[in-house]
Amino acid sequence: MNQAGDAVETYDLVIIGGGINGAGIARDAAGRGLSVLLCEKDDLAAHTSSASTKLIHGGLRYLEYYEFGLVRKALQEREVLLRAAPHIIWPLRFVMPHARDQRPEWMIRCGLFLYDHLARREVLPGSGTVSFADHPSGGPLKGDFKRGFIYSDGWVQDARLVVLNAMDAAEHGARILTRTPLVAAKRDGDIWRCQLRAANGELREVGARILVNAAGPWVQSLIEDKLRMPSSKSIRLVKGSHIVVKKIFDHPFAYIFQNPDKRIIFAIPYERDFTLIGTTDVEYRGDPGAVAIDDDEIRYLCEMSNRYFHSQIAPSDVLSTYSGVRPLLDDASDNASSVTRDYALELDRAGAPLMSVFGGKITTYRKLAEEVVDKLAPLLGNGKATWTADAPLPGGDMPGADFARFLQGLLQRHPWLPQALAERWARAYGTRVAKLIGQAGNLAELGAEILPGLYEAELRYLVDAEWAGASEDILWRRSKLKLHLPANAAEVIDNWLAAQTAAARKIA
Ligand SMILES: Cc1cc2nc3c(=O)[nH]c(=O)nc-3n(C[C@H](O)[C@H](O)[C@H](O)COP(=O)(O)OP(=O)(O)OC[C@H]3O[C@@H](n4cnc5c(N)ncnc54)[C@H](O)[C@@H]3O)c2cc1C
Repeated sequence: MNQAGDAVETYDLVIIGGGINGAGIARDAAGRGLSVLLCEKDDLAAHTSSASTKLIHGGLRYLEYYEFGLVRKALQEREVLLRAAPHIIWPLRFVMPHARDQRPEWMIRCGLFLYDHLARREVLPGSGTVSFADHPSGGPLKGDFKRGFIYSDGWVQDARLVVLNAMDAAEHGARILTRTPLVAAKRDGDIWRCQLRAANGELREVGARILVNAAGPWVQSLIEDKLRMPSSKSIRLVKGSHIVVKKIFDHPFAYIFQNPDKRIIFAIPYERDFTLIGTTDVEYRGDPGAVAIDDDEIRYLCEMSNRYFHSQIAPSDVLSTYSGVRPLLDDASDNASSVTRDYALELDRAGAPLMSVFGGKITTYRKLAEEVVDKLAPLLGNGKATWTADAPLPGGDMPGADFARFLQGLLQRHPWLPQALAERWARAYGTRVAKLIGQAGNLAELGAEILPGLYEAELRYLVDAEWAGASEDILWRRSKLKLHLPANAAEVIDNWLAAQTAAARKIA
């Protein structure tokens, strides 16, 4: 019962937004025993959280903007996350070729020294120098580059990280509603009355003791348009785009290039067969949901790649692209690249509390979530301790966080699994692969092979355990199969999903 006297289903927290920040907050709060509902208007990770460069990184270049606190926080998180989800997060070595017209060598050495020492490292090796004459990363580079630097960061399957946080939240009792926008909310005594539009179009009302706005690029418009309140902070939208091309080098090192315009571009080994190149930094004023790469960005990324590699690429070589908008806290910087990547939490207590999350990075999401719940739980009389720093994410509970040993064990337990499939599943699902395989003792028992290497057992798992509801969820966010499967894959999966829905309706 609320003060208005009528009963609505009321949660401690209603979280708006199923990106990394919303999912991370839901996980942390549910694990501390709070009742949580998370609503996401599209799919989990449908927006910025599936469009990142996918680095768990301190952000070497932020040292130039004296963001030592942010870099330190992010560096500390690298090892926490590598231990929590060794299947979807792994170490990556970065090579930075050096040329005379770039940042001076002493400056880079100082930066790398700080990068190595700002936070404790156990898993990741430190930095050093490489001579391209005798290092595998030298071969693909043009002859002008003789030596460079090498350092470590982490790689993450970003959209899967969101899903794993949502799964863990649900396993701790949270309700996760995808394809359910919050259309309006207003304070009513000591609660928020939230109007949600369900996937079938029906409106429903739920109550929230605290409303959490984790709407990413929509954080400000949500306050102004859906809550009809002024926003105390502004967000600055900066578009970043990536291109995917057939692989232009064949070794496991990633490159970080410092361009003459001072921007930084990464070229990263991607999905076995490809190279991922990005990103751009372009001020953006349109609808965050409609962001897309433009021809200038494609040309820019091709030109930057061509400055460094023997293998030249043109816009016609681009096989796939993706773009996202960084929801950056507006700190009035002149230049999009220098806007702070740190986050700010804004707690409005003029009535039932509203917590809004401005900015942030994937790398620091767990810390952000912890801070949010540390601030909110006491308001609900909850004094439970923090818990996520040492807790594995679903599928990440591998002894010693040793992925290679886990994969070997998987192949020994299921010798009938083709190596490539076992590797893909182990990477995507970690120890949860056991749920997907169930009692199957051979490939036929995984159900029909709907597309090459994609069996019904996996599709069912994605629908039942991971909220997949459309082909794009499956081919692009839960996996990257879109890059590997034939062009009609989306149609085949949508037909399969429609057949499942029809069959379920018949049974009901
Ligand atoms: C190009 C690019 C590269 C990046 N690279 C990195 C990187 O390498 N490493 C790193 O750490 N960070 C990186 N980042 C930053 C990182 O991706 C973002 O900080 C992070 O994903 C933001 O997550 P979020 O949850 O705040 O936003 P989002 O992921 O956008 O989630 C917000 C969600 O809220 C939902 N929503 C909005 N309004 C409503 C509503 N009314 N009802 C219900 N749901 C709603 C949206 O649909 C959306 O899914 C990068 C960002 C970009 C753009």
